[in-house]
Amino acid sequence: MTTHTPVDLSHIQPREKAEILAQALPYIRKYHGKTMVIKYGGNAMTDPALQQDFAEDVVLLKLVGINPVVVHGGGPQIETLLQRLGKKGQFIQGMRVTDAETMEVVEWVLGGEVQQDIVGLINAAGGKAVGLTGRDGAMIRAQKLRLSDQKDPKVEHDVGQVGDIVSVDPSVVKALQDDAFIPVVSPIGFGENNESYNINADVVAAKLATVLQAEKLLMLTNIPGVLDKEGQLFTELTPRRIDELVEDGTISGGMIPKIAGALDAAKSGVNAVHIIDGRVPHALLLEVLGNQPFGTMIRSH
Ligand code: ADP
Ligand code: MG
Repeated sequence: MTTHTPVDLSHIQPREKAEILAQALPYIRKYHGKTMVIKYGGNAMTDPALQQDFAEDVVLLKLVGINPVVVHGGGPQIETLLQRLGKKGQFIQGMRVTDAETMEVVEWVLGGEVQQDIVGLINAAGGKAVGLTGRDGAMIRAQKLRLSDQKDPKVEHDVGQVGDIVSVDPSVVKALQDDAFIPVVSPIGFGENNESYNINADVVAAKLATVLQAEKLLMLTNIPGVLDKEGQLFTELTPRRIDELVEDGTISGGMIPKIAGALDAAKSGVNAVHIIDGRVPHALLLEVLGNQPFGTMIRSH
């Protein structure tokens, strides 16, 4: 593993450093004992320096009494292995078409390599992470997703073993949290006949945040947030505006399940839902303990 050199802060006076730390106190008090679900995806997951920042942030949050729950994606990693097997990934409305062979790859990559890499990173930063898929603790029950066409709802797309969540039982996550562990969840569900389902990680993160009645849902991605047609950042979005943006095609691809999940969570009582730029070093700490608005906030009404 590569360790990166910390940013040089020698020009900042110790007094100022203490001041900066002290300014985080109101946020630490506010969030102490609260659960935060963090969707970890995009570049923050592939760049070694950003990976380490992320792991440090998660451990720091845990140590100040917040309960982070990590849900990870892994699109690029799945793509790499599919390519090695001579397969090409295909997407419909932001969902990966998942045939039986692709499902095997998804299970290996997400439930194996990617999950354990994240667990290792968090542990190396001083935390105690535990990797889980939706099978563990019978957490995520799923069924085949019926994906109706965005334009013509009468048309249904077959996206294979892509799962639609039936129910989430968070008891395994709660048990781990209470014991100082940091759960790291791979977005794989199981069906009635014990078959596996590939579920979009944003959807899993959103549902888990709802079921856990999390204080925050933070979705780290590879873009500053939700952008308008000119590439300008929306600092906040209402449900009605989101509908319009999906309708007119401003929101497309992977942003569709992300925004849908974000909106569901906001409407179901998750206090703060933010889509943030995971390419910014220490994006998590900036959002949670900083006093600057960052990324796109999703409003419930
Ligand atoms: P993640 O790993 O974060 O889930 P995705 O690729 O699934 O990444 O989703 C983020 C992508 O959604 C962005 O990189 C961008 O290409 C796409 N996208 C589509 N519409 C928008 C929009 N209006 N604003 C921002 N990103 C958008
Ligand atoms: Mg995605």
